[in-house]
Amino acid sequence: MDALIRDIGHLWLGNMTVDVRRYVIFAVAVWLVLWVALRGVMAGRKIRSDTPPNRQLASEFLYSIRSIVVFSTVGIGITLMSRAGLYPLADLARSWGPVWFWVSLGLMIVGQDAYIYWVHRAMHRPRLFRHTHRRHHRSNNPSPFTAYSFDLGEAFLMVLFVLLWPMIVPTPWPVTGLFMLHQIFRNTLLHAGYELMPARADGRPMFDWLTTSVHHDLHHGQAGWNYAPWFTWWDRWMGTEHPQYHARFAAVAGKPAVASEAPLGQSA
Ligand SMILES: [Zn+2]
Ligand SMILES: [Zn+2]
Repeated sequence: MDALIRDIGHLWLGNMTVDVRRYVIFAVAVWLVLWVALRGVMAGRKIRSDTPPNRQLASEFLYSIRSIVVFSTVGIGITLMSRAGLYPLADLARSWGPVWFWVSLGLMIVGQDAYIYWVHRAMHRPRLFRHTHRRHHRSNNPSPFTAYSFDLGEAFLMVLFVLLWPMIVPTPWPVTGLFMLHQIFRNTLLHAGYELMPARADGRPMFDWLTTSVHHDLHHGQAGWNYAPWFTWWDRWMGTEHPQYHARFAAVAGKPAVASEAPLGQSA
């Protein structure tokens, strides 16, 4: 019994260390580079004219650490379930070679995008919003530290995907590590407050199928639009992309507004 408790303690500390390090490195790096070192150079790419106060950043940091406690605790469950043989597909996928390794990474990212789109839309229903998603939207003007600033319910829903996906789709465990790197990298940039996506000559994003910082910033500024985290297709298929997204992106990228869309200030 003592050995089991020690084992769980080690697992938990190990999970916490990896997750905290990943969050702190990405959030601090993006903050240091964009908000401090390159503040002057990047001024033209700043999405909002105002900057959130330091106390907002501090509380986002603390709530993010609390979310990581939830992730790490559920992570113990995943490890114990794996040891108990509840992830036969993950073990099987290890023998499927390098092509499947990268395909399964792509599938997991696309799958998570769909999962978050629909879970996010559900969390915006008034009854769920109060218990699961209000904390994240306290950051009306987000910062790199907003990435994991979640209510406990939202933190659980986010890690639930990582628990369930490898049961359904054969995914080698190392893929999950790369998947986590992708999500924290994109998540931090979505909340960075600066737009890094290059613009095409017509003012549209270079890779218009990827979400941009402006895309997610519009969600924080005016909930009801732009629910998807990584790709723009779900919002387009479901008619939930902000009608002024391309105009707003073009304005931040210093390009003329996209001709076919409503000018800024005329809400749909
Ligand atoms: Zn939201
Ligand atoms: Zn957000």
